[in-house]
This record gives sequence, structure tokens and C-alpha cells, in this order.
Amino acid sequence: MRFKPGFCRICDHPISPFMDFGDMPIGNGFLSLDGFETEYFYKMKVAVCERCFTFQVVEVPDPKKMFHSNYAYFASTSHYMVKHFQEMSERLIDDLKLDENSLVVEIGCNDGITLKNFVEARVPSIGIEPSSNVAEKARSKGIKVLDKFFNLETANTLVEEVGNADLFIATNTMHHIEDINSVFAGVKELLKPKGVMVQEDPYLGDMLKLVSYDQIYAEHMYLWSITSLNNVLARHGLEIFDIERNKFHGGCMRYYICHKGAFSPTEQFLKQQNKEVKLGIKEAKTYHKFRLMCEESRDKLVNKVSEIRESGKKIVGYGATAKSATIINYCNLTCEDIPCIFDSTDFKQGKYSPGAHIPVLPAEQFKDEKPDFAILFAWNHFKEINDKEKDFERYGGEWVIPIGQLPK
Ligand SMILES: [Zn+2]
Repeated sequence: MRFKPGFCRICDHPISPFMDFGDMPIGNGFLSLDGFETEYFYKMKVAVCERCFTFQVVEVPDPKKMFHSNYAYFASTSHYMVKHFQEMSERLIDDLKLDENSLVVEIGCNDGITLKNFVEARVPSIGIEPSSNVAEKARSKGIKVLDKFFNLETANTLVEEVGNADLFIATNTMHHIEDINSVFAGVKELLKPKGVMVQEDPYLGDMLKLVSYDQIYAEHMYLWSITSLNNVLARHGLEIFDIERNKFHGGCMRYYICHKGAFSPTEQFLKQQNKEVKLGIKEAKTYHKFRLMCEESRDKLVNKVSEIRESGKKIVGYGATAKSATIINYCNLTCEDIPCIFDSTDFKQGKYSPGAHIPVLPAEQFKDEKPDFAILFAWNHFKEINDKEKDFERYGGEWVIPIGQLPK
């Protein structure tokens, strides 16, 4: 199903963009030389619905253009993330008392970073992953994976074939899916009466605070808040009963979701819900201010890069993230500004960044390059990268943070 531009994808209320990022390529669309001519661009504008308060990219490309056999994001390349999802899995197995008679379903299981923990604990689990190359990686870890999109039809098939689920996991996934109502309709059908859905995504509240506008790209077409997510869930007889914050991806919220009334809301959920309202999540002026702060952050970065170039010093990029495409293209940075980006993902090395076509080089070569400055596009992994590249600052190198501020 494709959505009408100008209407909220959640509730069909008319929406109008408060910010225009201009032409954007696909954030994860790293390409070879022969792909430059046919590269796909879309107009990236964002809006917040006045009725359900969902922060959304107004018009996004066909999902087939974004999640396909060349999809370049493998979650397990970060050791911090491996540990994060291992801890989450162990806690869920304990808290929900999962065993060999339970069923766990994960949507967007990526390379199996989370489900491998359930497989090891002998808890039956199924992953849903439409990107065939990452799905293949998950299968190599012994995980059962269906390479399709999750919706009511998929949920009904699962219920018929393997029964209802005790746990449904969606980490860093629900902001990728255009027809979000179809997913929650499936979740409603799939969950046992006391079943729990765990959703974790970058949190709108953190993006507004850090001015981390690079969280916005076609694959991240929604930035969720408690307020907006609960409005979507209410349409399907589901609700949030607990939350937890963490620092992943520069500030994530983990939402615990159940059938309406199945569990009592926790104190910390109610507290955060009130906090959001005070933060102005329902007010247009909040987003107007955010736009001005993005423009300020862009101008600051562009000026910094110009100054460095004029002084004859060397500047490179570090972390060829999907997020970097939003910054590079919004700030109109080119290969003349940043001659290369270093990255540890094999798949991206030797390719070119989406839009600006900046060459991606192996992170191991960063030391030899000895730049004076490095724009840290993977700012959310600051500690991990700074530990790994400890010589950089020691020899006078300076990290340039391309967003408003780093999380504290
Ligand atoms: Zn809406």
C-alpha cells in the first residue's frame, strides 16, 4: 500500500511539512562507480501530525528501494550493540519466564544479533527480515528466518503454523515501516493475552534535545515518542505499560507494549509521559525551534569545514553511517570538503557515499592518514571509536561533532 502525500500515515489527518531537507539519496545506498548515473533521490520533508503527534518523513521511496539484497547495515559489527541485545534478551527470558514451550518472534531481526541469544537459551524463535543478505547471515547462526514483510497476513500464517507469541521484538525497526498500522494489526493478532511486545527506537525527545537531525532519513521515516506511539497502539487495542531509556543510537526508548489493560502502567512510564508533554511534544512551536536549531548546526559545520580547508589542514569523515547521508547532503558537503570517510564495515569499503559520492575507506587506514580533523558521523559510538583510535587525539587530532551536542 502506498500513502497519499500530505496525509498522516497513521491517522490520515492532513499534515504540512515544517522543514525541508532538499533532495536526499537513500541513506544506506552506498554505491559503486557504475551506480552514479542512476542514483535515486527523493524530496525529504518532515511533518508532525496535529492529531496523533507522529513525527514523520512526508514522502518516502518505495521500500524495495531501501531494503533489498544490498542493504548495508549489519548490526553485529558493533560490540557494544552485541552486548546490549544480549543483556536485553537475558532479562526478557528471566522476566517473562521463557522456555522451550514459548515463542519469540522478531521483526527486522537483521543478522540475528538478538535472536541468537534465544536460540542459545533453546527458546523457540522466528525472525522476519526482508533484506535477504542480512537474513542469510542470521540463518548462518541457526535462526529460522522468513524473508518477508510483517503484517496481518504474516501474523495469521504464523498463528496457524506455530501458534501465538509470548514475546514480539522490534528493535530499530518500527521507524522503518511505512504501513505501521498493518504491523500493529498483526501484533494484536499474534500476541498471547499476556504476551509482550518490546519496541526500541531512537527517541524523538532525545533528537529534539541533541539536535541530532541525522536521525531523520527515508529508512527512519518516524521518530517515535510515548505520546505518538500510544496513539497508534490505541487504534489496535494495544498500549504501552512500561518504558526504559538507553543511550544507544544517541538516545533510545524501549517500550513495553501489551493488550489494552493486560498490565498496569508503571510509575516510570507515567512520569516520562508527563515529561514529554512538558517538553512540548504536542506543540508546533517546539518543531519550529528545532528547525532553527538544525539550520544553526548546519551553518556551524559548514563554517568549520571551510575554515579547516582554508587553513590547509586535512579533514576526513569517520563512520559512513546512513545518518551521515542526511548531514552531508543537507550541508551540501562534497568530496572537495571531505576527501574520504573511514568505516569498519567491509560492505561499504571501496564504495561511495550516497549523494556526495565520497569514497569509503577501511577504518584501519585512518591511523596512516593522520588527518588534523575528523567529522565523527558515528557520534553515537563516540566512546567505542575514541578508544579504538586513541592515537588520534594524542597526536593532536580533533573530532568534529556534526550535530548540536553529544549525549551526556
Ligand atoms: Zn496522525
